Amino acid sequence: MRKSIFYSAIGFFAGMLFMGFISNELNPLSNQLVNSVLWYQQSDEMKAIYLQNFNWAKQIVEMESIKNQGQHKLAVIVDIDETMLDNSPFEGMLIHKGKSYNRQLWDEWVKRREARALPGAVEFTQFAQRHGVEVFYISNRRVHNLQATIDNLRKEGFAYADSAHLLLRQTTSDKTERREQIASLYKVILYLGDNMGDFDEIYRKGSSQYDSSAVWKDSNLWGIRYIVMPNPMYGTWEYSLFPRGKTLTDKDKAEIKINHITGY
Ligand SMILES: [Mg+2]
Repeated sequence: MRKSIFYSAIGFFAGMLFMGFISNELNPLSNQLVNSVLWYQQSDEMKAIYLQNFNWAKQIVEMESIKNQGQHKLAVIVDIDETMLDNSPFEGMLIHKGKSYNRQLWDEWVKRREARALPGAVEFTQFAQRHGVEVFYISNRRVHNLQATIDNLRKEGFAYADSAHLLLRQTTSDKTERREQIASLYKVILYLGDNMGDFDEIYRKGSSQYDSSAVWKDSNLWGIRYIVMPNPMYGTWEYSLFPRGKTLTDKDKAEIKINHITGY
């Protein structure tokens, strides 16, 4: 009798473990992240794209600072996540734990201050500083994460990692006002980001003013005033896939994504 209780207890805990394993494996939404996160973490192509972009950004900083001859105060505006800092271990955790993004998990990750610098990012900020060009970080990390973000950037060696150069999200994810604030004091020579909203609100998918033709209309700005970083893991491009005002489960979202794939 005692033995059978023992074995059923063993069976129960083994079952729990197995169910845990299964549920980790079965979040369809985080499973769709696998190839994106792998490419971001493993491929040399990813590293080369970041280095290529920062090399080009340095050329622009150098050219503009020579052209300027001390006339204006110069600045570059950069985004933080997936532009300067690599949060792919957070995305990897979502896959391993079978979870999807939520603000609480994200805050926990930010508070750990463990994001690493992207290839060429730190050197770029130091290069800009040597050329008298200030770097402003406009990010949609929320203001309560300011100290953790400064600590993380400093740990990695970024220049201008201080509260005067970080403009985090207060009320809106629209970065226009924060960009204008810098542009009223500096000549902004360059914008770096992984999301269209890092450049101009008009490009942002999901916003009411979103205009898909804008990217073509402003074709002369890419690589000249705007430099785009690769982020296949997430972005506002996803918002336009999901109908507004509707609560969708992870399974619904995963299905919608598959249905949006063009294939023939
Ligand atoms: Mg970003």
